[in-house]
Amino acid sequence: MSYVITNDCDCCGDCADECAIGSITIGENIYVIDEEICVECGDCSYICDNGAIKKNQTHHI
Ligand code: SF4
Ligand code: SF4
Repeated sequence: MSYVITNDCDCCGDCADECAIGSITIGENIYVIDEEICVECGDCSYICDNGAIKKNQTHHI
């Protein structure tokens, strides 16, 4: 489980600057969070003006 960026992302880049461990990078169309690195601190979710970053509730096997 980690945070995920939804299609509400407008690619402002603020979250990538905010993530202290560099878990957020630009993807094909929107910014993406590397789930392997994210420590679920929530800082990016707090800073996103578009509310595009949500906690991922789905479980990965
Ligand atoms: S702060 Fe929000 S809108 Fe900006 S790049 Fe990150 S997810 Fe996208
Ligand atoms: S929740 Fe924290 S560690 Fe995960 S991507 Fe956002 S700022 Fe980075």
